[in-house]
Parts: sequence; structure tokens; C-alpha cells
Amino acid sequence: MQLVIKDLSKTYSDNTQALKNINLTVYQGMFGLLGPNGAGKSTLMRIIATLQHADSGTITLGDIDVLQQKETVRQILGYLPQEFGLYPRVSAETLLDHLASLKGLVNRGERKEVVDAMLQRTNLWEARKRNLGAYSGGMKQRFGIAQALIANPKLIIVDEPTAGLDPAERNRILNLLSEIGESTIVILSTHIVDDINELCTHVGIISNGTLLFKGRPIEAIESI
Ligand code: ADP
Ligand code: ADP
Repeated sequence: MQLVIKDLSKTYSDNTQALKNINLTVYQGMFGLLGPNGAGKSTLMRIIATLQHADSGTITLGDIDVLQQKETVRQILGYLPQEFGLYPRVSAETLLDHLASLKGLVNRGERKEVVDAMLQRTNLWEARKRNLGAYSGGMKQRFGIAQALIANPKLIIVDEPTAGLDPAERNRILNLLSEIGESTIVILSTHIVDDINELCTHVGIISNGTLLFKGRPIEAIESI
């Protein structure tokens, strides 16, 4: 499956041109969207996640028309914004179990298998009974990823997932995302060049609403 963005533009009501004629194809793997603050990254992510309107252009995911078939997109999308709400008084295990049942996993045993595997995959097994309010920043990010993955998404969008994390936690998050990228389209937005270098298979560089570069990270470094 591919995400194909064509001639996408967005101007906010105060005349800020956030996206100018973006053309981009994202393949399976980990795609890094790199750009300074205010470049248009979040706007692009929110439009792909069907949370915001575009003024013009098209986006397709496989044969889905993303800008028209919002409900379909939401069923196969995992979106992790920069600030996402967590229920502070609920444990990771309880919330994931609840989300899995909302997704139609009615059998308790099956649900436990899925939830346990997810807790292990995101390294939250030891902390599974702790309330989310007591989690560190990195644990919250990992929980956000677990929460997104429960729905078996075809596309995962993560906005600045490494912001404010220490190097060890940052690596854990990036490695996890890169592993997910083996079977899913992962789009990672960041303003940190190092986030892109090691693990992203493709990269786009955006500045002032314009996509300046798209290609392999190695070529991106040469172009800077
Ligand atoms: P849309 O056309 O996508 O609905 P709007 O221009 O109507 O977007 O703005 C959406 C919301 O974002 C408004 O509530 C607005 O107050 C808020 N907003 C305005 N300026 C900014 C900004 N610079 N960054 C983030 N949010 C903003
Ligand atoms: P990034 O995620 O790269 O920091 P954004 O997509 O948040 O960039 O913002 C792109 C541009 O659009 C910036 O100039 C920002 O101030 C502006 N902007 C973002 N959201 C809104 C909004 N809702 N209304 C008006 N301007 C906005």
C-alpha cells in the first residue's frame, strides 16, 4: 500500500499558507518528515489523519480517497499527535483491554493475548498495572504507540515522538517505530535531523509549507 499526496495546499483563515502544492508518495517503511517549527508538518499530518480540511489536492491510501472517505481512513489509521490525552487513573493493561474490546475483540482470552503481546512489544510489561498518570514521558509515548497499534493500522502517523526524551528512551521509540515500519507505513514528523538518519527509509524535508526534498536520508544529508 502507498500513500499518494498530490498538489495538496492549505491556507488558514488568517492567510497563513501552511502547505503549498505538496506532492509526495510514501511507501511502506519509516518515512521521516523533517522541518523546523512552523514548517507545516502538523498541518500535513492532521490533514492525512482527516482531522483538518485541505483547500485543494488529493490524498489516496491504496484505493481509499483519504479526503472523502474519512470513516474508512480512521479505521485503518493510528495517529499519535504531539500532545495526546491519557486517562491518568487507569492502568495501561486496563485501557488497552478496553480499546481492544472496542475494536471488536470480544473473546477475553484472545484479548488478553493481544494486549499482553502489545505490552511486551512496547516494553511496558513491568509497568502494566501502574496508572498512566505515573508514567514517564517516554513510557507515555510507548503507550501511545501501543494504543495506536491495537487497531492493526495500515498507516501510523507520529508527530514529534522523541521531543523531550533522553537518548536511551529516544532510541527505544525510534527502534520500535522502525520495527513497525516493516509491515506498515509509518510517518514520523520531527525537527531533529538525527531522528531521521539512522532508521528512516525515506525522508521529506519541509520548510515554509514547501517540500524541498524527498528521497533517501543519505541523499538528504548531501543536499543540506
Ligand atoms: P481550518 O480552516 O482547518 O478549520 P482555521 O483557520 O479555521 O482552520 O483554524 C482552526 C483553529 O486553530 C482555530 O480555532 C484557530 O483559533 C486555531 N489557530 C489559529 N492560529 C493558530 C496557530 N498559529 N497555531 C495553531 N492553532 C491556531
Ligand atoms: P509544524 O508542525 O511544522 O511546526 P504547523 O503545521 O503547526 O507546523 O504550522 C504551519 C504554519 O501554519 C505555521 O506558520 C503556523 O503558525 C500556522 N498554523 C498552524 N495551525 C494554524 C491554525 N489553526 N490557524 C492559523 N495558522 C496556523
